Amino acid sequence: MSIQILQKYLPELAFPYLKKWFSAHKIHIHVSRNRNSKLGDYQRLKDGSHKISVNHNLDPQLFFFVLTHELAHLIAFDKDRRIAPHGKEWKLTFREMLLESLEVYTEELKPHILQFSKSPKANFMASGPIVKFFHINNLSENEVFIEELLVEDSFLYHKQIYIIRQKLKKNYLCENLDTGKKYIFKALAKVEKIVKS
Ligand SMILES: [Zn+2]
Repeated sequence: MSIQILQKYLPELAFPYLKKWFSAHKIHIHVSRNRNSKLGDYQRLKDGSHKISVNHNLDPQLFFFVLTHELAHLIAFDKDRRIAPHGKEWKLTFREMLLESLEVYTEELKPHILQFSKSPKANFMASGPIVKFFHINNLSENEVFIEELLVEDSFLYHKQIYIIRQKLKKNYLCENLDTGKKYIFKALAKVEKIVKS
C-alpha cells in the first residue's frame, strides 16, 4: 500500500512525520478490520522488510498514535535487533517520536500525549486520560467505566450480572452473581449499568 493512501485515516499534519519515519524502509502497511484484541501490530519479515497493521476504524488521532507505536518498533529494532519489543529502547524511541510530532494532536489531547510520553506503555489502555478521550463518545447511554461505580454496585458484562466486591489498588474485584466466581476488572473496563426500576 502506498503511503499516500494512509492520508485519509490520518490527522491533517501527520503526513510529513510519516514520510520522514518511513524514509528508506520497505514497509507493508495493512489497514486491518477491527480487532478487539489489538489496535495494531508490527512484524519484521524474513526478507528484511516490515509489516505494520492498524485497525481501520480508529479515530484519526488514535490511528496516528498507534502507527507511531508500531513504527517505533521498526526504528528501535533497526538500531539493535536484540532489544525486547517494549523494552527501554522502544520506549525511548516512541517517546522521541511522540514529542517530535506533538503538533499533530489537538490542544485537548496534547497534554495527555505529553504525559504518556514520559513513560510510554505498551498498551495505551494503561493511560486513563487517553482511553477516556477516545472512548467517551462511544459509550452508549447505559455504559460506564467500572471506576465510576461504587463497591456493591452491580453491572452487566457480556449479559452476566456482576457485583463490585472490592476496589483494589488499580483494579476491581467483582463477583459473577450466577457462578459466584470472582474476577478482576480494569478500572476502565466498559460495563453496562443496571438501571434500577
Ligand atoms: Zn508494540
